[in-house]
Amino acid sequence: MDQNIIENLRARSVPAFQHMIDGCHVPASDGQTLDVISPIDGRVLTTVARGTAADMTAAIAAARAAFEDGRWAAQAPAARKRILMRWADLIEANAPELAVLGVRDNGTEISMALKAEPVSAAATIRYYAEALDKVYGEIAPTASDVLGMIHKEPVGVVGAIVPWNFPMMIGAWKLAPALAMGNSVVLKPAETASLSLMRMVDLAHEAGLPPGVLNAVTGEGAVVGEAMGLSMDVDVLVFTGSGGTGRRLMGYAARSNLKRVYLELGGKSPNIVFADAPDLVQAAKVAASGIFRNAGQVCVAGSRLLVEASIHDDFVAEVAKAAQGMRVGDPLALDTNIGAINSQTQLDANLRFVATAQAEGGEIVTGGDRVLAETGGYYMAPTIVTGVTRDATLTQKEVFGPVLGVTPFETETEAIQLANATNYGLAGGVWTSNLGRAHRMIRAVRTGVMHVNTYGGADGTVPLGGVGQSGNGSDKSLHAIDKYINLKTAWIKL
Ligand code: ADP
Repeated sequence: MDQNIIENLRARSVPAFQHMIDGCHVPASDGQTLDVISPIDGRVLTTVARGTAADMTAAIAAARAAFEDGRWAAQAPAARKRILMRWADLIEANAPELAVLGVRDNGTEISMALKAEPVSAAATIRYYAEALDKVYGEIAPTASDVLGMIHKEPVGVVGAIVPWNFPMMIGAWKLAPALAMGNSVVLKPAETASLSLMRMVDLAHEAGLPPGVLNAVTGEGAVVGEAMGLSMDVDVLVFTGSGGTGRRLMGYAARSNLKRVYLELGGKSPNIVFADAPDLVQAAKVAASGIFRNAGQVCVAGSRLLVEASIHDDFVAEVAKAAQGMRVGDPLALDTNIGAINSQTQLDANLRFVATAQAEGGEIVTGGDRVLAETGGYYMAPTIVTGVTRDATLTQKEVFGPVLGVTPFETETEAIQLANATNYGLAGGVWTSNLGRAHRMIRAVRTGVMHVNTYGGADGTVPLGGVGQSGNGSDKSLHAIDKYINLKTAWIKL
């Protein structure tokens, strides 16, 4: 895309956003709004409705009514498919506008947002639209005097709570399979990244989705998210975000209707480099982009670099060179590699992590500071810390920022022990020319996704889900469909 197109879109004023309930834009029940601060310059971009618990209850009621009368679930699969395909087309047709709006709201560099946001969301919606009439029930292998059938039914009302790092991509991972299977949905975008996703919800209605099937309530997690979690009328809750919120959601489910809760909770993913890696310069470049793109605000980011001791110094120098070659700045400039930190809160937290790492004996090789403060925006230099021990904060806690901790290892066994030394288990990578070692590492590292001689970029055909405290259940691939259906057995005496 041309920079001029981006500048024209940047110059547009952004209207105030309201909830989408039962096909209508509505303000908060008490009329309150939340300021939307752009991380590009720290200025107020627009407002969103500051949802109340009553707003969430109304959205859930609309979703329930839509589900019960079958206006979506009872449509022929081909009809549902047509609408979802049209939705994907509209998202793609509006991709530049959606991407720029999203970046003004959340700060992701536009080069990445253009690929990872609307285009990926459209692809995800098409994937599940195409799949929806290929999901069959089953006939059980019973004795001949009975018929055992397994029906796959929609669950009813799905609640989806999404984060701010990739709102459209992650939103689509949840909305697309949920809607494809005939469910109604209530969406809660993140406070600091609602706008592009709310536009995407508008486009679903333009594509012909009946009112009430997809509702969206903006506002604070602790208010509207909690109301969703505690609802007696939400059947399944799907979430991507922090471990703390994930724990709360399980608590809400326990205190209400025992709704099924699926959590994707981030990680502390090890990127493990052996001296026999096929191309160490390439490995260093990918190690840098694997943590620093989107300023490290990526759930699968390779935030722990484990390096064989014999190459440690040279390899770290190479990663530092790659990091220093990445341009930090205006997320809407096409040549920016690392955009803004999403919020002041997040920037402050990142800087605290760096101070803690130093206090624990870590050494900063590059970065460590806020940069471009004169813009009013939230930017941070890509940061590499060496001497990170197994028990250090940078090993144990997710930063969710552009901070890479480096730890040397001597043997394959030690690499595995370090890789598995956290409570997380979302992603990982190994760089080696030894095929046997690659497979041993795939088996040994406790994680949901393991990369070999690459890092990141797994497409929609494969699942993404964590083990341990990285969560449960998967987004992407046909496996994600399981979250949005109930199995019903029919046992018939013949
Ligand atoms: P992050 O630290 O990445 O912002 P959060 O878990 O705080 O992660 O946020 C992810 C999503 O969870 C956001 O949409 C946020 O509004 C929502 N959220 C935050 N707190 C709660 C809560 N108590 N109940 C439900 N949702 C919440």
